[in-house]
Amino acid sequence: MGITADWIGCNNYNSGGPQKVGVTLHHQYGYGDNLRSVFENNGVSAHFNSCNGHTTQYVSLVDRAWHGGVEHDGSYWANTYMIGIEQANSSVAYPYPISDKTIEGTTKLCVEIAQVMGWKSYTRKQSEASATVGLLQGHRERAATACPGDYFFARLDSVCADINKRLGGNMGKAGDIIQWSPNFKGNQKWIISEEDKQGYCHITDVAKGRCLDVYGSKAEANAAIIAWPRKEPATANQLWRIEEHANGSWTLHSALDDELVLDIFGKSRSAGAAAILWQYTGAPNQCFIPVDTGEGSYYLLAAHSLLPLDVFGG
Ligand SMILES: [Zn+2]
Repeated sequence: MGITADWIGCNNYNSGGPQKVGVTLHHQYGYGDNLRSVFENNGVSAHFNSCNGHTTQYVSLVDRAWHGGVEHDGSYWANTYMIGIEQANSSVAYPYPISDKTIEGTTKLCVEIAQVMGWKSYTRKQSEASATVGLLQGHRERAATACPGDYFFARLDSVCADINKRLGGNMGKAGDIIQWSPNFKGNQKWIISEEDKQGYCHITDVAKGRCLDVYGSKAEANAAIIAWPRKEPATANQLWRIEEHANGSWTLHSALDDELVLDIFGKSRSAGAAAILWQYTGAPNQCFIPVDTGEGSYYLLAAHSLLPLDVFGG
């Protein structure tokens, strides 16, 4: 799980803002696999680009990209609330076709975004006034533009159906750590081990005795967090340093790298959003409120959503 697009980055974005509620699909009106200089020369950006099976990322999903432009109502709503994906054209002549490989890359990317954001499915033609989450739109639905081109726009409903079929109501894989609605079961109760000399502990679920574990020991932002049997001798990817804040909440620093902490992806407040590693910012989606179960364990509630950490699949 996680976002598999290659990170490129660019300078055109605003930091932070409200959580995203959906995805706006664009076409480039051109063909390019790396859009950084195109974005920076034109004062625009998007979170992602999809080109011939290769996806690349330019703006973090917690930040605001400049992909929507001014809209029919004069607002810049999509910039604030939507994740933007550019797509390469296979021809820049009408109807601006997009290759099957590019559409497949876009489809996979939309599945990954839904899984990490905790969206169960996408919805077409839903107005923002009634938006829950998972809105999927073409750029022209909000602004005076031909984007994403007639060829792709005619396929957008079936692309949405394909994405939803692949999601299948499945938020992730069994053993992924997510935030979820309280169920008062053992896969939401966590035992904090005695700290060792360096101040690190194991955090183990009551249901099956699995540890909070950084998948693949990847000491990098966006690394997935899973539940995995405890390793002997102890390994850094299963050890955490608890920083207690003045308000009683905890930030969990990974023993792999103290600057990387447990984080709920994209500041999502949706049940199903993934836990990942991310650079320490101190934001509420990196703070967990320990609630004593009275049984020697804790619920760990993400401070921004008040949803407990949960092992997906029980
Ligand atoms: Zn567009």
